[in-house]
Amino acid sequence: MTVQVDVRTFPLFINGTWEPASNGETFDVLNPATGELVARVAKGTEEDVNKAVEAARNAFDNTDWKNMKPKDRSKVLYAISYQIAAHAEELAYLEAISSGGTVRRLGGNDILQMVDLFQTLAKFVEEYPFSETLPSPPFPGPAHNFIWREPIGVCAAITPWNLPMVIATWKIAPALAMGNTVVVKPASYTPLSTLKLAEIISQVVPPGVINVVTGPGAEVGETLVKHPKVDKVAFTGSTDVGRRVMKLAADTIKNTTLELGGKSPNIILEDADLSLAIPGSLFGVFLHSGQLCESGTRLFVPDHLHDAVVEQLVKLAGKIKLGNPLDPATDVGPVISKKQKETILSYIETGKAEGATLVCGGKEAVVAGCENGHFVEPTIFTNVTNDMKIAREEIFGPVLSVIRYKDVDEAIRLANDTIYGLAAGVWTRDVNKAYEVARKLQAGVVWINDWHMLRNDAPFGGYKQSGIGREMGKHSLDAYTQVKHVHTSMVPEIHKRNWYGLLFSNTNE
Ligand code: NAP
Repeated sequence: MTVQVDVRTFPLFINGTWEPASNGETFDVLNPATGELVARVAKGTEEDVNKAVEAARNAFDNTDWKNMKPKDRSKVLYAISYQIAAHAEELAYLEAISSGGTVRRLGGNDILQMVDLFQTLAKFVEEYPFSETLPSPPFPGPAHNFIWREPIGVCAAITPWNLPMVIATWKIAPALAMGNTVVVKPASYTPLSTLKLAEIISQVVPPGVINVVTGPGAEVGETLVKHPKVDKVAFTGSTDVGRRVMKLAADTIKNTTLELGGKSPNIILEDADLSLAIPGSLFGVFLHSGQLCESGTRLFVPDHLHDAVVEQLVKLAGKIKLGNPLDPATDVGPVISKKQKETILSYIETGKAEGATLVCGGKEAVVAGCENGHFVEPTIFTNVTNDMKIAREEIFGPVLSVIRYKDVDEAIRLANDTIYGLAAGVWTRDVNKAYEVARKLQAGVVWINDWHMLRNDAPFGGYKQSGIGREMGKHSLDAYTQVKHVHTSMVPEIHKRNWYGLLFSNTNE
């Protein structure tokens, strides 16, 4: 990448303008691949959150933004998609230097996914049933009835560090599509691309429609979640923080969407095409160094295929090239931080202590030219049982647990034996068997002979403690509207309103 941008100082983005934090403070953003300082970012305060919410409130309450016709709104969404495409390199660069995501993935997937999301929702908006007319049944009485779908208002979007831009757009795109206004609180490790995204979007929407307040989750995030003038919270992050957000949102009975953690099961059936299942399973777990919520971290393998599968997994995992995310030849970049690296290494120690067998990786990796970065080798454990900590808790790093099974029923039972339910997968040549297994898996998405294939026209979200609600697809539009029923009486004569007889014994007088 050759783009050079000024990443030294990023203020807050409020009401269409850049401004410093009210107390002038900043925090540092470091490149996880090199440890270098890449930016100083405004450390927002409660006062800044109030200001951003007021801007969003004003844009929602006092402008025509929410009343825009679907055709015009669709044009806005297309315009945003073109802006994203035009700034693709800069966005990818900002994200790579802060999140550790490879430019190969960012350019080959994330940017395309964001452009396609805005364009997909632009199409959906034109056909969206903003107003539905109901038939006029005899009960409860003749009337003309509508169902209107209206925007919710000011939406707070709180996002994680693993896919900062993509996850921000999962919230921003449907919110804007339905006429809401937004205040985004990006993760403190990775605020840069979201700030740039807001600036880009602000070129085509009125001031106050999109705002970004950076700063610590416990302050900026909590203030937003509790704020009485915020109508909805869309949160993506860990299940623990999700629990806290849900509790805080309860005081003001906020509409809340939660996209949380996962420990996704991946089942290789006996008849699977192993030439697909083995690279597919590694793709499913090691992309972005295992820091994807829907990574297939538990691999279920039939007893008699176990050794052959493991041999191939180890051989192929050994070829994954760790490196600087800015180098297009890099397969996998660093993990997000020193702290995250230490957490992952501590889980690896736990796995060993629990009796699992380490067959690949297991250590911190040193990458030439990135000696101060935070890299962990792709790691594979065998002899894992589903009750071990490494099979139960989300590690959020490049660690695969291989678990043997005797028959499909056992595999499904173990696959579902988790508090999570974000994603699952099954590899087989028998499509009927695949659907039978998919039906039994408790997860918001099931991939058959594939992994990570999220689509902008399909909903994504979790079963069980992986979350509440869905993002992407038409479902995401529903999630940013509230429903109003409008009844118009068609009976002008009071004596024909026999239902008034429920209260008045005689309406003829
Ligand atoms: P996290 O620690 O839960 O943080 C997520 C966001 O919440 C960050 O912006 C964080 O701000 C903010 N936050 C922290 N404490 C808060 C509080 N008390 N109130 C309000 N906001 C608060 O998660 P993460 O470590 O960034 O991301 C990794 C997690 O996200 C994993 O569990 C992963 O599975 C999950 N995830 C889920 C999905 C999905 O779609 N289901 C997608 C991606 C990731 P700071 O950065 O300032 O702390």
